[in-house]
Amino acid sequence: MKINEIHKELSTMTIRPCLIDYDKEREIFTWEKVAKEFDGLPSGGLNIAHEAIDRHANNMLANKAALIWIGERRDRKVYTFLDMKKETSKFANVLALLGFSKGDCIFTLSTRLPELYIAAMGILKNRSVMCPLFSQFGPEPILQRLLRGNAKALLTTQALFEKKIRPLLDQLPELQTVFLIDAEEDESEQVRSLKRLMEKASDIYEILPTDAEDMSILHFTSGTTGMPKGVVHVHKAIFTHWASGKYVLDFHPSDIYWCTADPGWVTGTSYGIITPWLHGITNVVDESEFDAVRWYTTLENEKISIWYTAPTAIRRLMRLDNEPIKEYNLSHLRLIQSVGEPLNPEAVIWGVDKLKMPIHDNWWQTETGGIMIANFLSQEIRPGSMGRPIPGIDAAILRHNDDGTVTEVTEAGKEGELSLKPGWPSMFRNYLHDDERYAKCFIGGWYLSGDLAYKDEDGYFWFVGRSDDIIKTSGHMVGPFEVESCLMEHPAVAEVGVIGKPDEMIGQLVKAFVSLKTGFEPSEELRRELIGFGRKRLGSAVAPKEIEFTQNIPKTRSGKIMRRLLKAREMGLPEGDTSTLED
Ligand code: ATP
Ligand code: MG
Repeated sequence: MKINEIHKELSTMTIRPCLIDYDKEREIFTWEKVAKEFDGLPSGGLNIAHEAIDRHANNMLANKAALIWIGERRDRKVYTFLDMKKETSKFANVLALLGFSKGDCIFTLSTRLPELYIAAMGILKNRSVMCPLFSQFGPEPILQRLLRGNAKALLTTQALFEKKIRPLLDQLPELQTVFLIDAEEDESEQVRSLKRLMEKASDIYEILPTDAEDMSILHFTSGTTGMPKGVVHVHKAIFTHWASGKYVLDFHPSDIYWCTADPGWVTGTSYGIITPWLHGITNVVDESEFDAVRWYTTLENEKISIWYTAPTAIRRLMRLDNEPIKEYNLSHLRLIQSVGEPLNPEAVIWGVDKLKMPIHDNWWQTETGGIMIANFLSQEIRPGSMGRPIPGIDAAILRHNDDGTVTEVTEAGKEGELSLKPGWPSMFRNYLHDDERYAKCFIGGWYLSGDLAYKDEDGYFWFVGRSDDIIKTSGHMVGPFEVESCLMEHPAVAEVGVIGKPDEMIGQLVKAFVSLKTGFEPSEELRRELIGFGRKRLGSAVAPKEIEFTQNIPKTRSGKIMRRLLKAREMGLPEGDTSTLED
């Protein structure tokens, strides 16, 4: 792929970025220095909620907006850091009074309501474990997760309770309490009105000593490649959150920030709740799901300066043939970051073209707890590259040897498994109930991510594909991302999913599932044109040999293309776990 460099001149930026000299910053960085950014608990130790909420509420930021919430019907509420301190203390008291304590798993199943954000911090204050579920899960995935996490309590809404939880109650003997956000009165000893409990609770709560290694959050992965895994995190993760908030999200006190991810996914907690508040930043939450007009309006109305979103949303905005900066006042926006899937070069360039700023890709996983590799505001962007490791993080490309060991690949451009030097603060501490699987992720002093990538001469990392998705065709290894990005450059194409289809002659045949932009119709002619288009750019060894039009590329609810489903359907095989499949 041609390296097309995009560089924004520092002199054109009105706010000086936090990171200017990448190499120097890496050199002088230590986690010990990050530790100094935190207060620590008066009672001893480190607690996320104290660092994110209480210490600001106790100081100069007490009256600053911490949460700006925009409801489905555009109703709007503002909570200051002091409001958040009081509300989260009340919820912590509610939990404590009901007997929930350190280590108990408290689940949430709610749309993005203020109570969800209050509960998240209240749970952490009580040293319980926050386990967020995505509100659109069906009953079966919810049951599985509640059972696997030994759920002691659940926060939800009346509607979600009736539809999804009530039928499960007799299968959940450990579930002591259900908190209903919007119920006026208690239903029973077990099913309680959050409002009534909060009314009676004190807004003063002293957080008990918390060890930085105490469990904080249990997150389930997206299920893109198989059964979602329960991932265990600890309070110390905020070290990474703080560092990435500084270097990647470039937080400055005046910023207004919007992360579009739902707390059901790790981005929605690490960066939709914790990181902005660690930095004392105003965090905007929009309850509604994706809608282009709504999203542009939120960016405009709330004067968003830092926007963290995902490739799937950007691709949907790209489908519209409009001129956003002419139609909306987006003049406050100064940085767009994206995560979750590979960001096609086309999308980076679309940003420059339509929003007058590139989209910055970054890479991480539920397991890493925070951003590991990123494109930084002040640094050159190479569209299609995930960027470089953040200060404090060491990443490498590893080759697997036949004897089970690994060797670092130092040669530029050579593919291998993207790996990280273990020990970063937000590293997951286990897979829930699966020590063996956890242990297998670490070989030869590295954490192996399961993603394939390569590094260029200047240390930029380029995503190739998930190791499960790699296609072996006529002796070549083909990463689906490369083929998908190429087809995305064709004006008719909105989205692409590429798989390897078993083939007797060549092992696997590259097959692309293509969805078209509005105004384009599938036809034999277009199919042939796309095949030719691919061949010209990728060469016949890599280009797709088959193209199928579909407006329905299966995706996870967090917007990731599920290639394993495309493949299973193509081959008529069982679909496996589909709990995270979008409707
Ligand atoms: P599961 O592990 O259950 O299959 P998942 O890996 O999709 O699901 P997450 O932890 O939410 O669950 O996603 C992390 C993965 O998403 C990464 O391992 C990578 O494959 C992909 N990803 C995230 N960001 C990027 C990016 N910027 N470029 C390419 N891939 C990315
Ligand atoms: Mg994964």
